[in-house]
Amino acid sequence: MSTSEKPRNFIEQIIDKDLAEGRVTTVCTRFPPEPNGFLHLGHATSICLNFGLARAYQGRCHLRFDDTNPEKEEQVYVDAIKEDVSWLGFQWEGDVRYASDYFDTFYEWALHLIKAGKAYVDHQDAQAMAKGRGDFNTPGVNSPYRDRPVAYHLAEFEKMRAGEYDEGSCSLRAKIDMQSPNMNLRDPIMYRIRKQAHHQTGDKWCIYPSYDFAHGQEDAIEGITHSICTLEFQDHRPLYEWYLNNLPVPHQPRQYEFARTNVNYTVTSKRKLKRLVDEGVVASWDDPRMPTVSGLRRRGYTPASIRRFAEMVGVSRSDGMADIAMLEHAIRDDLNNNAARAMAVLNPLKLVVTNLPENEVRTMTAPAHPQKPELGERELPFTRELYIDRGDFTEDTTLSRKKFKRLVIGDYVRLRGTYVIKAEQVVKDDQGNITQVHASYVPGTVGENPPEGIRPRGVIHWVSATCGKQATLRMYDRLFHHETPGKGVDDFIAHVNPDSFAVKQAWVEPSLARAAPEASFQFEREGYFVADRRDHSPEQPVFNLTIGLKDTWANRGK
Ligand code: ATP
Ligand code: MG
Repeated sequence: MSTSEKPRNFIEQIIDKDLAEGRVTTVCTRFPPEPNGFLHLGHATSICLNFGLARAYQGRCHLRFDDTNPEKEEQVYVDAIKEDVSWLGFQWEGDVRYASDYFDTFYEWALHLIKAGKAYVDHQDAQAMAKGRGDFNTPGVNSPYRDRPVAYHLAEFEKMRAGEYDEGSCSLRAKIDMQSPNMNLRDPIMYRIRKQAHHQTGDKWCIYPSYDFAHGQEDAIEGITHSICTLEFQDHRPLYEWYLNNLPVPHQPRQYEFARTNVNYTVTSKRKLKRLVDEGVVASWDDPRMPTVSGLRRRGYTPASIRRFAEMVGVSRSDGMADIAMLEHAIRDDLNNNAARAMAVLNPLKLVVTNLPENEVRTMTAPAHPQKPELGERELPFTRELYIDRGDFTEDTTLSRKKFKRLVIGDYVRLRGTYVIKAEQVVKDDQGNITQVHASYVPGTVGENPPEGIRPRGVIHWVSATCGKQATLRMYDRLFHHETPGKGVDDFIAHVNPDSFAVKQAWVEPSLARAAPEASFQFEREGYFVADRRDHSPEQPVFNLTIGLKDTWANRGK
């Protein structure tokens, strides 16, 4: 039994009943991606559902590649999918499985149906076949090949397998009902000819089973109890069951459908994501703007935040639209609790601490996280030359303390983790731009209140100009500026946000150069950043903006 006290979703209710009635003893689910692209947020919710159910009910979940279509499938996708599932925190039962592991069995079962007079080789071309199927208003008509003798179809199928026919010239069809109101039952295709090498089986086969002829049988072979798929397969369920009822399968799985996860401001379709990659709109499948699992990972999303999002989306029987703000909330919450704090100055203004000698380095220590001493401390070198953010200084002495809690000429501010300072003087270039602020520190104010009469306006961040490091910050924003990319235009690419990516140079505290790839930080007052998984190094630090501190999106343009 699941341990949580939450209201049960409809699939959990079904499982509870199956267990109570003894129909099922051990829950077995599967996640069955086709290796024709990288996994996206929608898949992530399906992964969390299937693996999550197995975990909650102490059952099993298989990872099975639905690799029945060699044209679009590739090993790189197989590898990426395995990595993504593990990274999300799930472990499949036993080895990775492949539909192609069962091709011999499927072939035997095709023969079984032919021998039973329930399958036939159709030599009609695609056009004739489509015409013969009819449509929602027109019943189909039987193929002229349908009622030929079993021996003929066995021989023809053997020729198909042996490569004697060209692609598209014939196919194996199930003999069900050309008049069925359910189009899926109008003699669906079981096998088609594809003279293409397969990433798992090489050149062994030139005929490949259709999704429908494969999926239920894969579930049956593996002992899947609850085969959960998305709603568009609801109309396929009678066919799924027809095959199981007409084949000598070792087990009867059941199919259940739930609504696919759609998310606003993004796309969850491998076909569309592939276009973004192929057309160079993004740099790669794992570009940090992509809603792929690997893109989210590179952006700094954590597995926990994605699992939390899946939980928030829930499991529904009818289509809806999830708000991307839920995912952003989940990651902000996670990083607020767990990311180490650090300082980075994005718009540097030099600050000279005039009462500190030139070569002196005073090493301050600051907690990595204000509420989490277990995350340790970091060293902050305090030197004569520092950088502060331009936006944190003004010469305007009329601004009230409430309005401007930063550094004002002639006034005090605390530098995070070190002294209170007083701004005394500015240096300007010929155009009148401020190039330096000269200040003095107030002795005895590290971790201590300043003496009577000195009231710092606030706390600002800073980096040592001599010990700090330069880093590249990759500033990302949403990839689409439209809530429903593609709506009302010919092509969803028209809704790509042209400002979704910018590069900035910043000064960062020296400890950040040693950050491990994929380590996340809150750059104080700037946002959450992650050390890029692929490009960050101590020599050339690279950080990706995961998400801002506050949700500014909702207020944009207002
Ligand atoms: P796409 O439309 O992006 O190509 P797909 O359904 O063709 O997706 P598969 O690799 O066949 O991709 O999907 C693997 C599993 O993930 C299936 O069980 C499918 O139902 C599920 N899945 C795919 N997209 C979503 C989604 N948006 N929400 C929930 N589950 C999904
Ligand atoms: Mg699919």
